[in-house]
Amino acid sequence: MLPLPAFAFVDLETTGTSARDDRITEIGIVRVDDDGGPLRVSEWSSLVDPEVPIPPVIQALTGITDAMVASAPSFARIANDVRALLDGCIFVAHNARFDYGFLKQAFARLERAFSARVLCTVRLSRRLFPDADGHGLDALIARHAIPVSERHRALGDARAIWSFVEQLYRDETSERVDSAIRRILRVPSLPPQLPPDVIDGLPEAPGVYLFYGDNPLPLYVGKSINLRERVGAHFSQDWRSETDLRLSREIRRIEHERTAGELGALLREAVLVKSLLPAHNRALRRKEEAGIAYWRDAAPRFIPAIGVDRNELTGAYGPFASRASFRAALRALCAEQRLCARRLGLERGNTGPCFARQLKRCNGVCVGEESSQDHDARLAAALEPLAIPAWPVAGAACVREASDDGERIDVHVFRDWCWLGTARNDSELAELVECHPRPSFDLDVTRLLLRRYRAGALKLIPMAAIQEPACAAITSATQAVNRFA
Ligand SMILES: [Zn+2]
Repeated sequence: MLPLPAFAFVDLETTGTSARDDRITEIGIVRVDDDGGPLRVSEWSSLVDPEVPIPPVIQALTGITDAMVASAPSFARIANDVRALLDGCIFVAHNARFDYGFLKQAFARLERAFSARVLCTVRLSRRLFPDADGHGLDALIARHAIPVSERHRALGDARAIWSFVEQLYRDETSERVDSAIRRILRVPSLPPQLPPDVIDGLPEAPGVYLFYGDNPLPLYVGKSINLRERVGAHFSQDWRSETDLRLSREIRRIEHERTAGELGALLREAVLVKSLLPAHNRALRRKEEAGIAYWRDAAPRFIPAIGVDRNELTGAYGPFASRASFRAALRALCAEQRLCARRLGLERGNTGPCFARQLKRCNGVCVGEESSQDHDARLAAALEPLAIPAWPVAGAACVREASDDGERIDVHVFRDWCWLGTARNDSELAELVECHPRPSFDLDVTRLLLRRYRAGALKLIPMAAIQEPACAAITSATQAVNRFA
């Protein structure tokens, strides 16, 4: 019934509230192991000699007196037992930071490290019952009718928080309790219809993944430079999107394909999304939002990807992720270069000073203090870094992308910032060269290429330089490797 195999419900009594200055006087642990059969529950507790006097007010609260702990073992003597009991467990406590902090300190004083994944039952109660009055242990005991013996003694309180969790599983659906616990522990919670080891079976490497439901076509295609992490993130409930919720319900199996690197993953995703049209791919929308800008009349104008002719990339600016990011880029230029937002079409109206002019932050083309030629010359200079450069080689060129372990090599062929195809070996490459594929324009691909190119991290190998019988030169080690870290 528990979402993970071992939990230790822990409560400590102490001489005060400061983990640094105060000491432990009693430890109670209820360990619950779930190995598929009936739960195995074992209890352990011990008084602890704090080696300092217990303040009278604490003695009155817990009933643990100096006399009681005088003959108890010090923490040093029971540290090994405590550690063995907590080994491999989720550490569960009420106000867990308190108990966990004391225990960590106690181990630290022995120069031993202690760490565990922590589940706080205050947080659990808050998450499940956000409107309840109070989440203190007494409030929980009253609200959930939890039987208590020896309240304020370590084992009594540890039993109470275990009873609280048991009670939750009786009163609520186990799905709801599991999911609350997983959220607090940030455990990816896999849809039950998937094999439990499906995430572990994915490589921590770049590639594409496909989620399938009952139909032969995938529900969703995605890409990542770390497949295991990205697929797990779809099911980690802390930030589930609507799409992820629907995917969790419909998914039946996961397939993946490795690629050498990020560029290969992006290209493969683009192909799969275009050819398979997965029902839940929002990537399509993302692509529709992107675009480039032309400056042909008064001000640069944004053109969405769909209206872009791949033959007219040269002379354009961008690419931009969306119209909004294009406008943000222009606004930034205005501010940096004292350009006029009105002339750039970022402000309504055609006459009178622009807003920045009123703050003396525009050089004043809007009020005739700067000529439009001067303004536009400054604009041209400011836009220069955003200009899409001319394709730097004659004809097609290869980009060689190798995986981190060097075992996988993808050779991508491009022309005019557009993709022609990818080869994994010399014969595939020879085929690509022979069949003269049509360039496929995808603004995401162009964006990634340009980002690398502008950073000086794109090594293009001109196809013309490759003699046909010498295709092997590409995949052999003679060419520099492009690593897209
Ligand atoms: Zn102005």
